[in-house]
Amino acid sequence: MAKSENGPAGAHGHGHEHHHDHQVVPDDIALRVRALESILVDKQMVDPAALDAVVDAYENRIGPRNGAQVVARAWADPAYKARLLDDGTAAIAEIGFGGTQGEHMVVVENTPEVHNLVVCTLCSCYPWPTLGLPPVWYKSNAYRARAVIEPRAVLREFGVEIADEVEVRVWDSTAEIRYLVLPERPAGTEGMTEEELAELVSRDAMIGVAVVPPPTGGRTP
Ligand code: FE
Repeated sequence: MAKSENGPAGAHGHGHEHHHDHQVVPDDIALRVRALESILVDKQMVDPAALDAVVDAYENRIGPRNGAQVVARAWADPAYKARLLDDGTAAIAEIGFGGTQGEHMVVVENTPEVHNLVVCTLCSCYPWPTLGLPPVWYKSNAYRARAVIEPRAVLREFGVEIADEVEVRVWDSTAEIRYLVLPERPAGTEGMTEEELAELVSRDAMIGVAVVPPPTGGRTP
């Protein structure tokens, strides 16, 4: 659901049993994972740096690359974009992504008039199949609270200045619905292949805390 910028940060459809489980269990899992990790490291069965590398891969590299392919396809193919905005889950499944934590995807489009921002105010709901694991800041109390109350200030801290005349819409992810931002296609990308376009799309742009900058002229003809 969309929130007005000055809307209350409270009730938003999280109040159901499923979500309670979802909120409580991860703390316990996190503790158990930490315990397992320290035992494995103590016994020299695992290299902590290797673990960090795996987490980094899913958080920053592998995960968000899927979403970037979706965005690039939408930029390159207007018919695909129409299907994506109409039924995100089905259109994302067309390129092979779906499953756990991505069952009900809604794609929201940034335009010159509207900037979209995604948060989960209650916990950390996030579209795993298209973005991988949520970054630490996404799960932080500060982001979850402030994204709704003062989205423009939050965006400014991420380095994104939204003009006064542009509407900011904040979308609150839940256990049922996960949002993906379709960023604006930057100028100077005409004639790029889908693969090249996908390279430009960052995870943060698909959460809505970044925009996709024009390519930095490093392309060879
Ligand atoms: Fe959540």
